[in-house]
Amino acid sequence: MEPELKNVVRVTPSEKIRFKCSFCGECCRHVKETVPVDCQDIFYLSRFLRDSGEKFDCTDQVLQKFAEPVLINESGYFVYFLKSVGEQDACIFLKDNRCRIQKAKPKACKIYPFVVEPNESGKHRYLLSRERIAHFKGPQTDVKAWMKKYFNQESREFLASDFGTAPQISILLRGIPENRKTEALLHFHRLRYSEYDLDRPFIDQFQRNQEKLLAVLESMCE
Ligand code: SF4
Repeated sequence: MEPELKNVVRVTPSEKIRFKCSFCGECCRHVKETVPVDCQDIFYLSRFLRDSGEKFDCTDQVLQKFAEPVLINESGYFVYFLKSVGEQDACIFLKDNRCRIQKAKPKACKIYPFVVEPNESGKHRYLLSRERIAHFKGPQTDVKAWMKKYFNQESREFLASDFGTAPQISILLRGIPENRKTEALLHFHRLRYSEYDLDRPFIDQFQRNQEKLLAVLESMCE
């Protein structure tokens, strides 16, 4: 393992780790602005909540109630994180030390304690978060098997496309005249997060929306 960020090390697919969830809920506390929910996560979470009988029928309602936007650079590009609540900044979905959206939790939670990042060739590299060191016990598994189980093909396809277009979108946003910035960011939100039919496959809609977003931002640049 190579040292990298504090408490995070890069791992290769063949490396083995011991990890066991003890259902203490600790990983879901003190998580203010640390649990990202991308548009794929929001799509499946919205569908799950709707199908569970909760009064949600679109992604915007779910975002408004459970997530908050965070600016990631000065271009205006923003992402969403799950809200946290209470003195311990617990995830809004933590209830009695359990995740109440277990079947539709975000990718970041599914693949934990690993983190996925883009690599130079447009694929992915894996990191291991070692913050909650007490969990590193129990059965041994290799990184490859873990990812095969929790990081599915559609997620790989989505992240490769999303990571690939993010720099281009940031550049385009920087080129929008100030007097049209709000309009551009409304398009950004609509085409990244809102314009989805929950009854149709996600990935086709995502790709179509990305193409539309790039086209509309290009047309607004000076
Ligand atoms: S979504 Fe679930 S697993 Fe993820 S931080 Fe919240 S409660 Fe924990």
